[in-house]
Amino acid sequence: MLNKLLQLQELDLRIEAFKKREKEIPAQKKKFEIQQKRLVDEFEERENACRQLTVEQRTCESEIEQKQQQVAKYDQQLFSVKKNEEYQALLHEIDLLKKQIAVHEERVLTIMMKMDEMKARLEEDKARIQAELAGLERQCAAIDEELAQAVRGRKQLERERLPVAQQVDEELLARYKRIRQSKKTGPAVVPLSGASCSGCHMAVPPQKVNEILAGDKIHSCAYCGRLLYNKVDAEEASAEV
Ligand SMILES: [Zn+2]
Repeated sequence: MLNKLLQLQELDLRIEAFKKREKEIPAQKKKFEIQQKRLVDEFEERENACRQLTVEQRTCESEIEQKQQQVAKYDQQLFSVKKNEEYQALLHEIDLLKKQIAVHEERVLTIMMKMDEMKARLEEDKARIQAELAGLERQCAAIDEELAQAVRGRKQLERERLPVAQQVDEELLARYKRIRQSKKTGPAVVPLSGASCSGCHMAVPPQKVNEILAGDKIHSCAYCGRLLYNKVDAEEASAEV
């Protein structure tokens, strides 16, 4: 009695599984895309830090050059000053400039050492990040393919479903649809499990059980509303097909 409906339900449950995957896949892909962006950002941040150090080094070097020129100028002036105070003042200026130069030179050395370290790390990071990005790229491609397959699979089943649905008794189909809609997910037609509904595990009255086993009436579970059937009958029927 319920064979066509069970066949329809099987298709519907498979369609449901595909739809679930179709919903999950974009979320999974989004995660990969976020990972990709994080990696790219991380790399850019490192590159930026390197660039900033380079700029700082150049600034230091031009400061050093300017100050050295200033020192050379003052050195020349030392020969031409007459007064001792002026001479002392110039010496003081030169001394101050030389100290500033030393500070800048030290900073340049520090930067150069840091840059060597950063560049070596950047190279390592570059290789690692590129490998990770390539991996993510492959995972995204695989997931795109999986999505395409799920859509194709679902459409195929939806085509198969139509002629099956047409063979189910109209009233029964309407009942089935109502149950499916209210349950949102899972089967609407469930086998008896002994004298219980296998959908909600509540007991089914003996009278109903007998009628279901005899196969002459379609009953629904009083608790969950699912339609009940005798599994043995259904298996025999599908073996005959
Ligand atoms: Zn039930």
